Order: sequence, then C-alpha cells, then structure tokens
Amino acid sequence: MNPKEMLEWSKQVWADVQANVARLDGCAGPHDFVPVDPTQKLNRRWVCTKCKGGVDNIARIWYERGRDHERRSHAGRDEKG
Ligand SMILES: [Zn+2]
Repeated sequence: MNPKEMLEWSKQVWADVQANVARLDGCAGPHDFVPVDPTQKLNRRWVCTKCKGGVDNIARIWYERGRDHERRSHAGRDEKG
C-alpha cells in the first residue's frame, strides 16, 4: 500500500466507523446482538438485528451489563424494563 492508498483506506475505515455509530445511535433499541459468525469463539463480532450496527465482544459485554443494571434498578418499580 502506498501512502496515498493508505490515506484513502484510513478515510474509508473512519467513514465505516461513523456510519456504524450512526446506525447504533438511530436504533429504536434495545439492541439485539447476534454473533456475525456463530462458529467463531474468540473475539466475536456482534450485529444488532434491529439497526444492523456492529460491535466487538467487549462492547457487547458492557452493553449487556449496563442493561442488566438497568433492569435491576427498575425491579419492583417498572415491570416494563
Ligand atoms: Zn440496535
């Protein structure tokens, strides 16, 4: 890859990242993450079935943990979750 191609590539990567964030932000939520490749055990990528936004394994773990806390903090007050 020459420096010009490198620059184009990094611009493309950044554009993809921004498009992905826009998808996740626009999701009606809560995200419903499913593995992109169910046969892959490590460093899985996950994609939301609602917004098609993608996250890595670590982002998903924290998202699920956040939802868990949210559910618990609402327990007994709001059955809707
Ligand atoms: Zn989503």
